[in-house]
Amino acid sequence: MNVYVTEYLKINLDTEQWQCRKCEHEIGSARDSYKKGMKLYKRDPQEIHKPLLDPELYHYTFAPSAELCSIIECYCPGCGVLVETEYVPAGFAPTIDMEFDIDGLKQHWQSIGEVAEPGVGPDVVNLKQCNHQH
Ligand SMILES: [Zn+2]
Repeated sequence: MNVYVTEYLKINLDTEQWQCRKCEHEIGSARDSYKKGMKLYKRDPQEIHKPLLDPELYHYTFAPSAELCSIIECYCPGCGVLVETEYVPAGFAPTIDMEFDIDGLKQHWQSIGEVAEPGVGPDVVNLKQCNHQH
């Protein structure tokens, strides 16, 4: 049985593996961080946030310094889809952003059964039905 976790990640409760939802690649144990099975790419933050001032003239350019921060992108090794991006202090490992009680998930989903596709959220608020000004 699969449990959808994010747009690109699911947990196969039968194999207890993280899997890519796009290509079905088995990423790693669901009892551990999925990031251990991802292809990680450390970006220079100034590639993303261009300096607003000339770096030849100024040390501080309103762009994050690679000496202080890293941007880590996590890609599926099977299909290359970008699964996660995070900012961490320079030199820090990727964070553990999700940790599940797999035995608890199995117990919870056993009575519900597998959901074929994730549901959608509530409808967008109809502004005409609101009683206040926007
Ligand atoms: Zn994939």
